Amino acid sequence: MNVPELVLSRMASGRSLLLIADIGGYTEYMGSHRMSLAHAEVNTARLLERVIDAVPDFDLIEIEGDAAFLARQADTWEGDGAVAQTLQAAMTMHRAFHVERQYVATNLCPCKGCSPANNLKLKFVAHIGDVATQVIRKRRKLVGIDVIHVHRMLKNPVEVPEYVLFSEDFYRTTDTPLPGPVHEVSHDLEGIGPARAYFVDVADLPASQAPLPDPTLRGRIGRTLAVAASGMPYMLGLRRRTAFAY
Ligand SMILES: [Zn+2]
Repeated sequence: MNVPELVLSRMASGRSLLLIADIGGYTEYMGSHRMSLAHAEVNTARLLERVIDAVPDFDLIEIEGDAAFLARQADTWEGDGAVAQTLQAAMTMHRAFHVERQYVATNLCPCKGCSPANNLKLKFVAHIGDVATQVIRKRRKLVGIDVIHVHRMLKNPVEVPEYVLFSEDFYRTTDTPLPGPVHEVSHDLEGIGPARAYFVDVADLPASQAPLPDPTLRGRIGRTLAVAASGMPYMLGLRRRTAFAY
């Protein structure tokens, strides 16, 4: 007999730092051709994997389309340094993303899921709040209004292509100056109400200026074979994109 799911779940709550890394720029370039869609999915998965691996002290909660939702317990970090450390983590992820993105853009496939990868961007939203953790069948899920809050922050008036956007609650935990200018924005978070937030333009940060290593031919061929191989199931229509809604 199957044990009901709820018996296997447990709830715990605590203050968490919530971070979403979101890849932008694909939709404008994707063709409707199946090969392009398949390769775009493979490339997105690979890019997200690199981004997640770059910050082992964050837990991956969920892959949500072209975004990764990560969290870490706030008590070990909370206080003055958390905003600066989150910004630094974002920059580490940003670099890992762009190193891999070069490989995607220079793989040998000319399709619309691969060649326009040069235009892909990575942006971040971050928030701190109280969340409940639910573990069902070994999968950890976060629930609570602050989980909704951080997701709503993805829809914002920031106009620069790459940024790290902090909620007011989170930004107010620090007095330490950040390594770049901070800009204030106001927006209306659906179902939550008006909110202020603060963003740093990644292009203003010294860390974004460091040159990236040139892609190796071996790496380019490896990526080409990977898209060629993993594109197959998508081409046959066996797998579909999953939509997430918070
Ligand atoms: Zn391709």
